[in-house]
Amino acid sequence: MKLTTDGLIISEMNIGEQDRLVTVLTRSHGIIRAFVKGAKNIKSSKNAATGLLCYSRLDIFSGRDKYIIDDAVTQEMFFKLREDIEKLSLAQYFCELMGYLAPENENAEPYLRLILNTLYFLTNGKRSNDILKAIFELRILSISGYMPDLICCKECGCYEAEKMYFQPVSGTIICGDCLRKSGETAIETGMGVTTAMRHIIYSPFEKIYSFTLDNEGERLLERVSEIYMLTRIDKSFTALKFYKTMKS
Ligand SMILES: [Zn+2]
Repeated sequence: MKLTTDGLIISEMNIGEQDRLVTVLTRSHGIIRAFVKGAKNIKSSKNAATGLLCYSRLDIFSGRDKYIIDDAVTQEMFFKLREDIEKLSLAQYFCELMGYLAPENENAEPYLRLILNTLYFLTNGKRSNDILKAIFELRILSISGYMPDLICCKECGCYEAEKMYFQPVSGTIICGDCLRKSGETAIETGMGVTTAMRHIIYSPFEKIYSFTLDNEGERLLERVSEIYMLTRIDKSFTALKFYKTMKS
């Protein structure tokens, strides 16, 4: 069977002298692992189009137990990311998280749209790395079944309070007045970061990148979002560790 779809290469591994095994986030079939025969041949147009972080139009042959990429045409290479090791390592972390959370054998349009748009913003530098990391983490968790409940205080139901806390274990918020009633670990987020988190998970997709926070708020948002991700997923990400070494 042959299928034609668009996809972003989220990991690559060379096999022997000529061939390559890639993991692709495709629009129509989610995560696919596929062979690219002759990819390392420098004259092959498939060489560039099946490299890490390339977004390409793919002709894929699906055999009984494996996929083979017959043809690949580059649509976007995110070239500027490759000149900045911090941004490149953040992009690789997005790919690793994507490989873990995106579905297989089903349409993955929301996942593809999220990672492509986040990579565009990372390339053009219009939003900080901290903000993009938080947006990506909270939004991908939300679409893959780990959406936190940030509507109101878990205990009293208030929407706003002078002091607001996020509870990463249950993915809920609690106000300063109710804090003592909860036995959970809570991180003070205040209304600024709480509002930003609500914006990221509840807004229509086109709006998720547009909100403002001061520098301190951005750092807190980045930290809280990562804590939530690690609490819910309970897995360590090699690329995240590498990104943190690049950052410090
Ligand atoms: Zn309350």
